Amino acid sequence: MRICRELLCRTFSHRVTPCLPVTGKPAAGGWSPAQRGSFCSSSEDGKPQPSMLKHLSSKIRATGPISVSEYMREVLTNPVTGYYVRRNMLGADGDFITSPEISQVFGELLGVWVVSEWMGAARPKRLQLVELGPGKGSLVADILRVFTQLRSVVGGASVSVHLVEVSPTLSRVQAQTLTGNRSQTASSEDDPVYRRGETAAGFPVSWYRRLEDVPAAFSIFVAHEFFDALPIHKFQRTEKGWREVLVDIHPADPDRLRFVIAPTPTLASSTLVQAGERRSHVEVCAEGGVVVQQLARRIQEEGGAALIADYGHDGTKTDTFRGFKGHRLHDVLEAPGSADLTADVDFSFLRRMAGGGVACLGPVSQRTFLQNMGIDARMQVLLRSCSDPSSRQQLLSSYDLLTSASRMGERFFFFCLLHHSRLAAPRPPHGLKLEKKNPVQLPVAGFTELRF
Ligand code: SAH
Repeated sequence: MRICRELLCRTFSHRVTPCLPVTGKPAAGGWSPAQRGSFCSSSEDGKPQPSMLKHLSSKIRATGPISVSEYMREVLTNPVTGYYVRRNMLGADGDFITSPEISQVFGELLGVWVVSEWMGAARPKRLQLVELGPGKGSLVADILRVFTQLRSVVGGASVSVHLVEVSPTLSRVQAQTLTGNRSQTASSEDDPVYRRGETAAGFPVSWYRRLEDVPAAFSIFVAHEFFDALPIHKFQRTEKGWREVLVDIHPADPDRLRFVIAPTPTLASSTLVQAGERRSHVEVCAEGGVVVQQLARRIQEEGGAALIADYGHDGTKTDTFRGFKGHRLHDVLEAPGSADLTADVDFSFLRRMAGGGVACLGPVSQRTFLQNMGIDARMQVLLRSCSDPSSRQQLLSSYDLLTSASRMGERFFFFCLLHHSRLAAPRPPHGLKLEKKNPVQLPVAGFTELRF
């Protein structure tokens, strides 16, 4: 594909990448009994914060054990004490590191994907680039650099950037990455756009708390390590049928939490477990299902595509709920709010939720996706132009981290939603157009091998 070749032969300036202590997030080790929690926590600025454990305990005392989904939502996104809301957790000195933070090449290749899907949709005049859960803003910055480099290709389109981010702390980091000091917060809390800015290259950027608030228009959506942060329900098969797993206060110690099984069916256990389910334990991310339904409807009605990348499975795994703190596995019930909570994404569930209104491709492994996108050729170009031994070493180790099977290459997967027209066979020419060449359908980059 011409556009890929053009991009891969360029040498972009490198952004500084931190040292890389980890290989993404390790796999789940199963539940372990809760440890002692703490009643006081402090924020990044060192000020004491109301304790998440205290908040959860009063909630449980008032209404009884809560679902794992409610627990996860409170711990991660509670507006005052939520883990994501208060912290910048990404990077070598945070709790985990993600592919866009490991190498700019990752974001550049996703940028090529976005441009090629825009081209595959017959180059609409207006393009909204929407990212769900943008972290530090590195991925979208790398994608936009590709747009700038490929101005000759994308230049005709009016491009705007839309970020769906629940965390005010991270939105500030994103604004700094993307706009320097060219951003402003909304004067009213009710404004669905809570921050606006402009990049140095002139792309307008808007921040929203919810996908619903992003304007309806042709959009390419990107969600990297977003779905794994959405709350899951947990269900256990019992002799009496499916029962929901709940979180309760430990009877022996009010400072500890523990898992319990609901004695009777809950609304969630009656509606979310599929008939004929064969596993004995399942996790269902109902919120992720709703987001995918919204993406599918938007793509069906307005055109566009969504690229979802995360660790996950195709409806086969059971217990994947786990915590991360300082790049190590952390008990999910210990010191809630101090560690990231996550669960593998069930791509078969996302595919089901997307429905028949859009086409789904994948999941394919990160290694396959990046290799199909031309990471090997891109690395060769970068290595040829890099003589400094430590930079060369960093390029090679980031390549290994992103693609090797034992590290992120076979743990992360790419999945996409496309408008049906994208995969439809071109209509055979007829009538007066007979002599015209039949338009060639562009392959979907990353999901099919591209030849250079
Ligand atoms: N995509 C980034 C960051 C992944 S961490 C990367 O790969 O580096 C998860 C991101 O999703 C964070 O930015 C977090 O604040 C955001 N997030 C988590 N739950 C969210 C929700 N319910 N709505 C919007 N953003 C959310």
